Amino acid sequence: MTDAPSAPLDSSGRPATADALLRASPLPALEARILLTHVLGWRRTQLITRGEEPLNGASVERYRTLEARRAAGEPVAQLVGAREFFGLEFEVTPQVLIPRPETELLVETALAAIENRPRAQVLDLGTGTGAIAVAIASMRPDARVWALDRSADALAVATRNGTRLLDANRPGGAVTFLQSDWYGSLDAALRFDAIVSNPPYIANGDPHLLEGDLRFEPRGALTDEADGLSAIRTIIAGAPGRLVAGGALWIEHGYDQAEAVRALLNAQGFAQVRSERDLAGIERISGGLWRGNGAA
Ligand code: GLN
Repeated sequence: MTDAPSAPLDSSGRPATADALLRASPLPALEARILLTHVLGWRRTQLITRGEEPLNGASVERYRTLEARRAAGEPVAQLVGAREFFGLEFEVTPQVLIPRPETELLVETALAAIENRPRAQVLDLGTGTGAIAVAIASMRPDARVWALDRSADALAVATRNGTRLLDANRPGGAVTFLQSDWYGSLDAALRFDAIVSNPPYIANGDPHLLEGDLRFEPRGALTDEADGLSAIRTIIAGAPGRLVAGGALWIEHGYDQAEAVRALLNAQGFAQVRSERDLAGIERISGGLWRGNGAA
């Protein structure tokens, strides 16, 4: 008797290869490729150039485990522990919201708001992975950036992302990661050129909370357990005392909340209140400029 072959066989008795695993996968092709390149440590192109190579048993076993977990609903970003946002690869754990492509609009809009402000001071409330704060800091090396979250677990992830993704010698210094329930633990003397946030804005009882990736993400990052606007109200109410005159506040919100958020901003006394549409054409963020105290 010869030794058993090291390569496991696929269902038709051939050695398991990347080609065979992808062909047999119940997952959407893109997801299967992401999981397989993650397990093999390959680039996407190697799935083609090495597609016929027999794979070792441990890799096949790990891939099949991830494939089954994905088929049962776990988010791809959690299974591979990472998600790209604004061209940067962020670590993701089940303790943080997975960065969404539409949130890049918030980063772009904040960058435009601080464009002519050297050494701008920027505050990100509810930073999660740190994606917004770190993306802004990477695009504006001179900016001083604060990133707050009430979750210690999230801050640990955000801090690792900031350390790994930002130049240690950036002129603005390291991002200041601070455990804080909204503005609660922030030095009251600080004033910002821009405040940004992607807060929990899904209303309690919204059926989306029971669908897709959201089932596996931290509930506190998704819903305020109220009408979906309570965190946004807190952020808007606290912003005037924290913004310089002419400073900008931009908040991400749900697809049907733009009008309500603009009304809150106007009622608080913000100027040039407007919303911006994401790539799907949905009014996804709203913001305005702080007039400054005592201004007419
Ligand atoms: N954009 C997320 C979703 O609806 C929600 C994120 C949030 O509440 N900030 O999938």
